[in-house]
Amino acid sequence: MESTKEIINLAAPLSREGAELISRAFDFAKKTHEGQQRFSGEPYFIHPYETAKILASLRMSPTVISAGLLHDTLEDGNVKEEEIEEIFGEEILFLVKGVTKLGKVKYRGAERHNESLRKLFVAVSRDIRVIIVKLSDRLHNMRTLQYVPEHKQGRIAKETLEIYVPIAYRLGIRKLSRELEDVSFSYVYPKEYEETKSLLKQKSKEDARCLDKFQKSVRKVLAKNGITNFNLDYRIKTLYSLYNKLIRKDWNIEKIHDISALRIMLSSIDDCYKVLGIIHGTWRPLPGRIKDYISFPKPNGYQALHTTIFTGYGNVVEIQIKTRKMHQEAEYGVASHVSYKEKKEDKSSPNILWIKRLLPFNNGQEKSEIETEHEDIPKWIKELVEYQSTEKNQEELEEELKDDFFQQRIFVFTPKGDVIDLPVGSTPIDFAYAIHSEVGNQTNGAKINGKMASLDTHLNPGDIVEIIVNKNNRPNKKWLEYVKTATAKKHIKSALQEQIKGQNS
Ligand code: MN
Repeated sequence: MESTKEIINLAAPLSREGAELISRAFDFAKKTHEGQQRFSGEPYFIHPYETAKILASLRMSPTVISAGLLHDTLEDGNVKEEEIEEIFGEEILFLVKGVTKLGKVKYRGAERHNESLRKLFVAVSRDIRVIIVKLSDRLHNMRTLQYVPEHKQGRIAKETLEIYVPIAYRLGIRKLSRELEDVSFSYVYPKEYEETKSLLKQKSKEDARCLDKFQKSVRKVLAKNGITNFNLDYRIKTLYSLYNKLIRKDWNIEKIHDISALRIMLSSIDDCYKVLGIIHGTWRPLPGRIKDYISFPKPNGYQALHTTIFTGYGNVVEIQIKTRKMHQEAEYGVASHVSYKEKKEDKSSPNILWIKRLLPFNNGQEKSEIETEHEDIPKWIKELVEYQSTEKNQEELEEELKDDFFQQRIFVFTPKGDVIDLPVGSTPIDFAYAIHSEVGNQTNGAKINGKMASLDTHLNPGDIVEIIVNKNNRPNKKWLEYVKTATAKKHIKSALQEQIKGQNS
């Protein structure tokens, strides 16, 4: 049975007010979704409840956890914005609205534009916490994807793999990206998934025995050298990252050395280098496999020392050496900064754009504080905000991002929120043919952003386009002058020929 207590147990220690807030959001969401069902037949409330649990396990604040509980109340619960604001305040309303808006960004199109869409996704969300709620929402939806009608599963899983996973990964939240990617993988590439899974099963069984013996030797050697304050465990590579590596290594699993890796967690960077020395002094390292991600962190902020050594048991093993703090940050990424920052948040300004505040490109007096506090924010986000200057507001930023990344192409939306990408200068007719050739042929009119528009109107980025069809309608020769896409031209020409044929016979 769902209970507030279960959420609170997962969360970082909470104040009484925090627990109370969660409890109120819990009751409100439960009541709002009463009688609604998921595809699985379960009560709908299970979904926001599980989303909140994921957020709690990411150590998010009561505000964010509550936003997770409430995230579908506007869209699916017919609750008025004013009501949420009145009961839960402006900040939670802002987050819930952000998640709702983000839910409308969907994508169907060419893979080369995924990077742009990821950036748009970040820009639209305006607040890093909105993304974290949305990622948690998506994780629960992926966990229950088997109940969703089959024809929808593929698109959702692909979108997760191509948009959500890279965002989670690049925000450094491995705790989310790992599961998201493995679940999507099973839907997007079922055959490869099974193949990878059986390869891994075989291999990790072999590895496990060696690793068990080996880790005992490591413990002994460390203790002998005076290192006593450490944690040791091992992790197995996720299926999707193994799959990607298998592709690069001609599906030869013997060429992959980091399927199982031993992790040594210490309390200081000094200790990390000391332990690396001890390891290399005891076992022979594999040349060319020593990586110092402490001095040179990965773009997403990941830090550790990696080395691969001959264990003496006939195999090689990767060893990852890092501080506990580095490990923490590799699991929670930006999320760990968010929860930290929120405690210090000025309650009088709930409208602060978090993505802005998290980043060094901020106005005057706060700059130095933010720089030192968040020097390990992923470079990717820093770059994103380089587009931003202090005097610009959020709308201008979004426009600018669109302008910059969408120069050759524009992204427009169907009324349902699907993204259609088209060349600049496209008209509603291009849009109609991009949806389906029949829709194109039967186009009788178009609404842009809710208003009737002529068929030669040039679409702008972000337009919501609705095509009005008439079954008896046929393409007009004039349309050829309006269209930009090859697809539209091709279909119009062939429809015109059909008409001529029809007249002649
Ligand atoms: Mn949801």
